[in-house]
Amino acid sequence: MAPRRKKIYEGKAKVLYEGPEPGTLVQYFKDDATAFNAQKKDVIEGKGVLNNRLSEYFMTGLTNIGVPNHFIKRLNMREQLIRQVEIVPLEVIVRNFAAGSIAKRLGMEEGTPLPRPIVEYSYKNDELGDPLVPEEYIIAFGWASQQDLDDIVALALRVNDFLTGVFYGVGIKLVDFKIEIGRVWDGDFMRLIVADEISPDSCRLWDVKTGQKLDKDVFRRDLGSLTDAYTEVAKRLGVLPTNTQPIKPTLIN
Ligand code: UDP
Repeated sequence: MAPRRKKIYEGKAKVLYEGPEPGTLVQYFKDDATAFNAQKKDVIEGKGVLNNRLSEYFMTGLTNIGVPNHFIKRLNMREQLIRQVEIVPLEVIVRNFAAGSIAKRLGMEEGTPLPRPIVEYSYKNDELGDPLVPEEYIIAFGWASQQDLDDIVALALRVNDFLTGVFYGVGIKLVDFKIEIGRVWDGDFMRLIVADEISPDSCRLWDVKTGQKLDKDVFRRDLGSLTDAYTEVAKRLGVLPTNTQPIKPTLIN
């Protein structure tokens, strides 16, 4: 069967298709989970449906508080309409507590509060395993300018304050997260907006009281059912799809 629409890009957890209008794309959330630069892989039934809903929820909230992002509208269980952007080749990581790579690198106990939110960058390159890079590299290699980085830090900290509050309201501690940033042009004027996704795939989320992990570390560290963890997050936020049956991408007008 011929594909119903043009695939633009396929990543580890999502597929991008041509959108119905110029400047738009359709973002499809797969059930695939990967960790450790895709050395560990699995299909987690229902993950894509949950992440589509959760990313919609966070991006809509960001729009409502004036943080620009790529989300336009959700189309169905697994797809959302987004603005086409030029992705800045960086993973922008914000940390409130030590965990994962920073805990390892600095020999800190996971969960140690950081003196202030720390923003760091990895260069998006799977072959290299997304290496941590300093601002100096980013500017020297032209991935982003100093002005871009100032704007990116401002965006990342607003997203951090927003997500921290939203999660805290439902008894979840936002330990760290990753966002990606895209460029859009209004005529000659370039703006940076939040792109990609915001979901438990790209956050560390711990229950405030018990410390239970409710994020992709459940998969990375074999701590139980990832779907159960993401469903718990979605339930607490009041974001639950009425039908969790996986569905095929559908053609939209
Ligand atoms: N993260 C991500 N994608 C990546 C790397 C990290 O979404 O390719 C997220 C990760 O889920 C965590 C935060 O960024 O919430 C910080 O990750 P860290 O640098 O500690 O790396 P990890 O321990 O996940 O390898």
